Amino acid sequence: MNYFNIASIPGDGIGPEVMNEGYKVLKAMENLHGGLSFKIEEFDWNCTRYIKTGTMMPDNGLDILKDYDSILFGAVGAPEVPDHISVWQLILPIRRAFQQYVNLRPIKLLKGIESPLRNKTEKDIDFIVIRENTEGEYSNSGGKLHENTPHETVIQNSVFTRFGTERIVKYAFQYAKQKGKSKLSVATKSNAMNYSMPFWDDIVREISRDYPNIPFHLYHIDALAAFFVLKPEEFEVVVGSNLFGDILTDLGAAVAGGIGIAPSGNINPEGDYPSMFEPIHGSAPDITGKGIANPIAQIWSVGLMLEHLGYSDLASVIMAAIEKAIEKGEALTPDLGGNGTTDAFGDAIVSEILKGV
Ligand code: ATP
Ligand code: MG
Repeated sequence: MNYFNIASIPGDGIGPEVMNEGYKVLKAMENLHGGLSFKIEEFDWNCTRYIKTGTMMPDNGLDILKDYDSILFGAVGAPEVPDHISVWQLILPIRRAFQQYVNLRPIKLLKGIESPLRNKTEKDIDFIVIRENTEGEYSNSGGKLHENTPHETVIQNSVFTRFGTERIVKYAFQYAKQKGKSKLSVATKSNAMNYSMPFWDDIVREISRDYPNIPFHLYHIDALAAFFVLKPEEFEVVVGSNLFGDILTDLGAAVAGGIGIAPSGNINPEGDYPSMFEPIHGSAPDITGKGIANPIAQIWSVGLMLEHLGYSDLASVIMAAIEKAIEKGEALTPDLGGNGTTDAFGDAIVSEILKGV
């Protein structure tokens, strides 16, 4: 029997609603596989806790999490708590402490989902974005507001280290190689950001020498964004800095049918620390409590977790079940044009899983 200890942070708003569907899927996986067992421990580290105690998680929160095999995350945020609190007090400390320097975001149009891009089908939109997750433009290395200059001026620092850049670029080449992909697309902007991006590009060229069979192409971020819309079929693996990856993945989620569907993994590739899996959507206060949140992003995130834990076959079962449930269309949530509930759609996916699709 293989046991996995999973820490779960359902969070706020629709976070706990969709997390429940993730649990159902894990239970179904146990039934399907026999030799697998998941022990889930839940932590109420959310905005309600912040309002009561002044902190999103206890002082020893990271210490508590570090021995788990994986972390499942829902969504955090509440209208009365500024966004930066939940981000800076919970999500970023976890990503940084556990060296989750890869943010993995599949951009894949599922069968039965309509893309806003005219004439694009699931054959055209199927790639992955690998986003640097610990430094670059979001490194919190400070900046400066010069109020006494003739024009008020602000400077915000970005930090690109050789260590941080090499490891994400290596990961991207390695990912492409392992998955049998034919090329790597790289986001840059070396024509305008003339310190950080030439540095990034040089490291890409250096690392590429170890991967002679994976040709790479450098795209300026503006052109790359346009190609996401015009020619998504061009892409297999895309790697970018923290900011560029952030923008590209939101665009990617939109072309792949919307925010209720898009999953993500915050990966510590070395396995020294747990990785964390979460939908990219937020807590969605506007639909909280109505039972209509789309659970696909959370369930797909569970799939990414299983893949990371070494069960790609089970991840494929989950994806096939999601597509089958969409195809049948019996319990689609309102964002997909149906009038089903979170619970019923989750059940529909589970029932496909149990059929062993
Ligand atoms: P945050 O600041 O936490 O990112 P946000 O308001 O920017 O929150 P979301 O909470 O993701 O973003 O919500 C954006 C919109 O998408 C809302 O209208 C919300 O209802 C919708 N939405 C988000 N997730 C889902 C989901 N799983 N199912 C259906 N609709 C969703
Ligand atoms: Mg948001």
